[in-house]
Amino acid sequence: MSHFFPEVLAPAGSLDKLKVAVLYGANAVYVGGQKFGLRTAADNFTLDELREGVNFAHDRGAQVYVVLNSFLHDKDLSELPDFVNFLNEIKVDAVIVSDLGVVKTVSSLSSIPIHISTQASTLNVEAAKLWKSMGATRVVVGRELSVKEAGKIKREANIEVEMFIHGSMCMAYSGHCVISNFTQGRDSNRGGCAHSCRFEYSLDMGLDTEEKKKAFFMSSKDLEGLRILPEFINEGIDSLKIEGRMKSHLYAGTMSKVYTEALAYYREHGNFLSDDLLYWESELKKVSHRAYTNASLVEAAGTDSIFNERENTETEWQMAGTVIEASPKSGIVIEVRNAFNQGDELEILPFKGQAITIVAREITDIMMKPVARTRPSTLIKLPYQNGVESLHLIRQKVKV
Ligand code: SF4
Repeated sequence: MSHFFPEVLAPAGSLDKLKVAVLYGANAVYVGGQKFGLRTAADNFTLDELREGVNFAHDRGAQVYVVLNSFLHDKDLSELPDFVNFLNEIKVDAVIVSDLGVVKTVSSLSSIPIHISTQASTLNVEAAKLWKSMGATRVVVGRELSVKEAGKIKREANIEVEMFIHGSMCMAYSGHCVISNFTQGRDSNRGGCAHSCRFEYSLDMGLDTEEKKKAFFMSSKDLEGLRILPEFINEGIDSLKIEGRMKSHLYAGTMSKVYTEALAYYREHGNFLSDDLLYWESELKKVSHRAYTNASLVEAAGTDSIFNERENTETEWQMAGTVIEASPKSGIVIEVRNAFNQGDELEILPFKGQAITIVAREITDIMMKPVARTRPSTLIKLPYQNGVESLHLIRQKVKV
């Protein structure tokens, strides 16, 4: 698919997250099966979930790409054909691949479009041409490239180009890293990355013990390319990828919504107003994140892209729950994710447009018994409010 405006490609670590991403506007999602992908800790999809996810997305005009980007040993590769046949049968829109053996297996068994994973570190036109000659329809270029360099690949190799626009970074040439293997016994290139680069290390350069410098030398800030959107469009980048299959429902929904709304705005107006950019940036900050950086999108990342702090697990905003049902008759029925109190202010995130602020007055359980403080994984009710729909996400500001 080649078009002037890029698609927004969102991560979907589970069937629920796929639905959230699609409902909040993502044009495509990428998902992993139980094997062959690089996120062994994600709630990867069963075969039934894959089928349901593809149908759900296709019914709403979105596409589904399946990640097969592990590097495989022969014994793993022998199990791949059955899975490829299944993906062909359920009509997935592409597979994302790094290993040449997987490219060969997929192309010999099916006509599923092949996207070359960022794990393959495609950084130049000749590499992209070679992948194209081997049957690939798209390259997910390395995160070391600027948008301009990626645009050159798009034009000169005449192949679709996908680029990361948002999310956690890898300090190595994506995935070419064995720190997790040595420190945790977990293989980054077979789905086991333990984010060892985020840890604190001490640097021993012949200094005595007191002088050893301790710091987070290898930990990157998070990528955020909102203000560079016009450049992605001008360079003809086909797909804007959001990292984060392991991240929350709130993350999948917020990212899909912000980037699709920003693109739609630009399509209509041909520019951005600074107030709108500030609004979208404030939305991007309402999910768990580290300090943001452009990384190498404009010029090669420097020392200011290092996040030299301990991982911050506390966030200013968290997900309060999901709307299960909303009507004047039933009220707003919510499945609670994180507890909140009577009188707390909540923000309901519509699929389009600004958040709806409500105060959680008159909380009841589903038997209409008053509730002072909600509990995770329970159903509660609030009075109906216009504009609230089933499957809307609810967030709440929390004290940090
Ligand atoms: S440990 Fe860090 S640098 Fe290594 S593969 Fe994982 S994210 Fe990348």
